[in-house]
Amino acid sequence: MFWDRKTETLKGKALTALQEKRLKTTVAQALKVPFYKKQFAAAGIRPSDIRTIADIGKIPFTKKQDLREGYPFGFLAVPLKEVVRIHTTSGTTGKPTVVGYTRKDLSAWADLIARNMYMAGVREGDVFQNMVNYGMFTGGLGFHYGAELLGVTTVPSATGNTKRQIDMIRDFGVTVIHCTPSYAMHLSEVAEELKLSLPTLRIGLFGAEPWSEAMRKALEERLGVTAFDSYGMSELFGPGVAFECPEHDGLHIWHDSYLVEIIDPKTGEQLSDGERGEMVVTPLVKEAMPVLRYRTGDVTMKMEDGCLCGRGQKIARITGRSDDMLVIRGINVFPSQIEHVLLNVPEVGNQFMVYVDRVNHLDEMTVEAEINRGYFSGELSDLARIQKKVVKELRDALEIRTTVKLVEPGTLPRFEGKAKRVIDRRSDAL
Ligand SMILES: [Zn+2]
Repeated sequence: MFWDRKTETLKGKALTALQEKRLKTTVAQALKVPFYKKQFAAAGIRPSDIRTIADIGKIPFTKKQDLREGYPFGFLAVPLKEVVRIHTTSGTTGKPTVVGYTRKDLSAWADLIARNMYMAGVREGDVFQNMVNYGMFTGGLGFHYGAELLGVTTVPSATGNTKRQIDMIRDFGVTVIHCTPSYAMHLSEVAEELKLSLPTLRIGLFGAEPWSEAMRKALEERLGVTAFDSYGMSELFGPGVAFECPEHDGLHIWHDSYLVEIIDPKTGEQLSDGERGEMVVTPLVKEAMPVLRYRTGDVTMKMEDGCLCGRGQKIARITGRSDDMLVIRGINVFPSQIEHVLLNVPEVGNQFMVYVDRVNHLDEMTVEAEINRGYFSGELSDLARIQKKVVKELRDALEIRTTVKLVEPGTLPRFEGKAKRVIDRRSDAL
């Protein structure tokens, strides 16, 4: 049963008791890892000092860099022979991070995915096309086994060949898709170009990159789906950490499997509910590779309890990663904010690129967007009007001046996996 009502609606003392029991088990498991042994010794804490949820603040953070330095198997708490699968996270520089799973881990992970999909309304009888990378990236196999566990007909289409993806959706009567929001947008463009409708689709599960409410509206209109935001991270198993329920007001983070804190990224201090900061997560059920107080780099806040669906702890949709955040002349800008502005200007399409340069010691941001022919007269004066409009909308939303370049439809890059829409050229200029 994938609506685990008892666990998912657990509250108050019963929830705290479960979390504390699992936290103690997790700490004991983590202390089999030399890194954590050293870390506890350096901080002068013993496992018996971690008795309540509040005690978690005594444990130092684990950073991505720590995991990298443990490459390849330094963070395993079990012998390698008990690890039945490994994934790696995409390292932008240097070695990737290796994540190991025992059989029990894979089962717990699949169960979480099944719960997420059930919460979004996916049921036996649905046909599910999983349009993400099936390699070392956790999105492919992660969703795959969760979907099979739930009992839906699963199509492991992976990425690429958009025409073939569209054919399969139509031929197999696919009702549920999972992919990045950028790929979903690309798929809808190709389907429109080919004049092929996708009438069987009803649910879209979108994740692996932050996306805006304007993008939700556009995807729902173009694909005829109800769109759900999916959040996860390989270090915490993979996808399935948090997910939207049908209320679409924040994401439930599974309180029986993850402890969440929001901190000020600069001072490391815990913030209160409703304050936005960096999310720090301690998974409570990991066996092969427990991590304590993992700094996700993702910016969000804890929301008030009391969702209409009855489930517990929610976080707000992720605004962006603290390392995706651009600081332009002292102002924080997330690519998802730019996307939101552009999707509300009908004269431009939904594709964009952002370039940041340093000119005479000043940050300059250039946004390239595609003209939408349906709203463009073809006159030069109209081009100037649209350009002015986009500059104004961006300035109103972000409070910074940008240069806007309009380009021909179809000329900006399309992304099958995570979109890379920002090119920061400032470091080259130093
Ligand atoms: Zn809910």
